[in-house]
Amino acid sequence: MRKLTFSGGIHPDDTKSLTAHLPIEEIAPPELLYFPAQQHIGAPPEIIVDVGDSVRLGQPLTKSEAFVFAPLASSVSGTVKDIGLYLHPNGTKVPTIVIENDGLDTKAEPLNTKTLDELSPKEIIRLVREAGLVGMGGAGFPTHVKLSPPPEKVVTDIIINGAECEPYLTSDHRLMLERAKDVILGTQAVMKVFSLGTATIAIEENKPDAIAAVSEEAKKVSGIRVAVLKKKYPQGAEKQLISAITGRQVPSGGLPADIGCVVLNVGTTAEIAQVITNGTPLYRRVVTVSGNAVAEPKNQLLRIGTPFSYAFSQSGGLTEPPSKIIMGGPMMGIATCSQDVPVVKGTSGILALSEKEAPWRNESACLRCGRCTTVCPLGLVPSALTAYAKLKDLEQCEKYHIMDCMECGSCSYVCPAQRHMIQSIRWAKSELQKKRAAMKK
Ligand code: SF4
Ligand code: SF4
Repeated sequence: MRKLTFSGGIHPDDTKSLTAHLPIEEIAPPELLYFPAQQHIGAPPEIIVDVGDSVRLGQPLTKSEAFVFAPLASSVSGTVKDIGLYLHPNGTKVPTIVIENDGLDTKAEPLNTKTLDELSPKEIIRLVREAGLVGMGGAGFPTHVKLSPPPEKVVTDIIINGAECEPYLTSDHRLMLERAKDVILGTQAVMKVFSLGTATIAIEENKPDAIAAVSEEAKKVSGIRVAVLKKKYPQGAEKQLISAITGRQVPSGGLPADIGCVVLNVGTTAEIAQVITNGTPLYRRVVTVSGNAVAEPKNQLLRIGTPFSYAFSQSGGLTEPPSKIIMGGPMMGIATCSQDVPVVKGTSGILALSEKEAPWRNESACLRCGRCTTVCPLGLVPSALTAYAKLKDLEQCEKYHIMDCMECGSCSYVCPAQRHMIQSIRWAKSELQKKRAAMKK
């Protein structure tokens, strides 16, 4: 089978062997769960429960009339103990609902009782919204919005992303292996939404068992093909995936729908299947708990709202004070400052990295070796972006297309001078975003 890829990129040690062979383990929920009210990109939520309220598993906790919004559901039954500011994995304190679990898992009314055949495309989109689905790869973009492009953007290609190119992470790998049926059913639902007879599920070559499992299920239906991708980082980034599968390039500042593509993560399609077959909103997810500071790395099925500290305790605890705790993968994840932060919809992994795995490196002056430019998958000049960001020259940053940077970290990874490129680029991007927002007012 021909293996597809994109230009640029890197080949880091993937360290997936810590958990790739381990089946998903369902973890009983803890006594207290913490739900940051906003877990999506879009309109701010209105919290619709009060302290003292009884809630059921699957009951909505937030609402909004806005289109770009994804409601949040309780992942247990129990009582609302507090609503206040608590630490989010991103390091900020945000409005959070705290629920005491009664251990009964009393369920709310199911969101759906129809089969996929009985559902219309509009009903599928409504269900996806009610289920609070967002990109399970970590981006947090509401899925129903992706399924509803403006009429002038005609979607011709559905791509389901099973690349999982980030080192350490194996949650998508295990999900494809153990829940291939859900991945296929969710893909069929997306095909129905766009009235398309074909879709591609793209998987990196380092997951041969997942490729076999998904291919086997795909054979039972028509129109779904499995494409094998070369193992390369960041193969799972939307633009790189589209380039590998279709040969088309998303324009600077553009979206996949601009070139007729929609890309969904395999975890998202599996959740679409869940809401269709069980009527349940998104209330739990597979999380890879890994890193050399974790006693027993695992793929855990965790309820949304579970504290990281509880997840570590279910993996035998930590063997040493971690050098870094990261939500997501080591390349694009977020370093957190505490274990007392909860699993959110976008938590694909929780890593506790040892000193050896994540040593602090002091940066030195740029050697002008050009390696960062060679690997940048978007053809940017990371050394220049970093230099202008450090000089706080936002005009030049913009001129060199800093807003296109997807913060993949490939440039930092290869830099012999250990330049802290991502930190500088992120700072400049956030300053530019603030500037743009101020100009709109
Ligand atoms: S400049 Fe941005 S997109 Fe390019 S390699 Fe660096 S982090 Fe990745
Ligand atoms: S890789 Fe590092 S040292 Fe080389 S040009 Fe880029 S920033 Fe400079």
